[in-house]
Amino acid sequence: MKPRRAGETPMSFADLHLHSRYSDGTYGPEELVTEARRCGLAVIALTDHDSVEGCAAAARACAAAGLEFIPGVELTVEVGGDELHLLGYFIDTQNGFLRSRIKQFQVARQNRIREMVARLHRLQVPLSEQSVFALANCQSPGRPHVARALVQAGLCRSLDEAFERFLRYNRPAWVPKFKMDGREAIELLHQAGGVAVLAHPGLNRSDAVIPGLVEAGLDGLECFHTKHSAATANLYLELAARLGLVVTGGSDCHGLSKGRPLIGTVKVPCQRLEPLRARAAELRRAARPSAQP
Ligand code: AMP
Ligand code: FE
Ligand code: FE
Ligand code: ZN
Repeated sequence: MKPRRAGETPMSFADLHLHSRYSDGTYGPEELVTEARRCGLAVIALTDHDSVEGCAAAARACAAAGLEFIPGVELTVEVGGDELHLLGYFIDTQNGFLRSRIKQFQVARQNRIREMVARLHRLQVPLSEQSVFALANCQSPGRPHVARALVQAGLCRSLDEAFERFLRYNRPAWVPKFKMDGREAIELLHQAGGVAVLAHPGLNRSDAVIPGLVEAGLDGLECFHTKHSAATANLYLELAARLGLVVTGGSDCHGLSKGRPLIGTVKVPCQRLEPLRARAAELRRAARPSAQP
């Protein structure tokens, strides 16, 4: 019998892909935990883009609500010229090297906002830099904050308009994003005790890079995701089994979507977390050998 954690019942569930207002989500960590309770989850992971800023508050809120919290992150990486997202689970959010590399992501994101605003100014769109940073109010701002600030300032009628006119790929205020090399990112997560999982592979259309990432130490595949069909999930379940990778899943909730949050709509049974936990324990032992008696 596997030990059961607080809040877990034989049919308890985890949502391992959630964003908060510390990146491009709209819920604060506390609100996410309230929503997690409402939909009966036993375990959640916060996986903000290039940020762990919300993890401490989420951990506190989970502890108070009797939920298990897994500290996570979703790193923006580049592999073979393509942007991919790499999830890290059970990371030590205090790890110095992780924090310094995350800082680098965040400085680049803040500079990117400045460049987007400068491009808007060249297009005679008078959005103030300060209004974007004030609205984002976090270390890891992105295009959704620029879009919201454009709407708030009355410069666009909707977020869709903001993306369509200015922010979408190759639109006039689009600025490329800083990406970390995929192999380096896997190492970075590992040295912080984190399990490295390829996010939503079904959205990437770059399965050819997976074997190389596995060679570089990739631990898992996010098989269950809001935008994966059942057939896609099955494809990656088979691939994970073939390559000896752990399986994860989550909703990728960013807040309200068509009036309802996605949290809990994609969830994995807690029994499925055992290989992920086992891999995290292995990495922790390797990362901090002196901590073991
Ligand atoms: P960034 O990381 O700054 O490039 O922003 C990416 C985020 O922008 C995505 O996670 C989405 O939340 C959002 N996004 C991207 N494209 C659109 C779009 N066409 N309409 C609304 N939101 C979008
Ligand atoms: Fe996002
Ligand atoms: Fe993603
Ligand atoms: Zn995500």
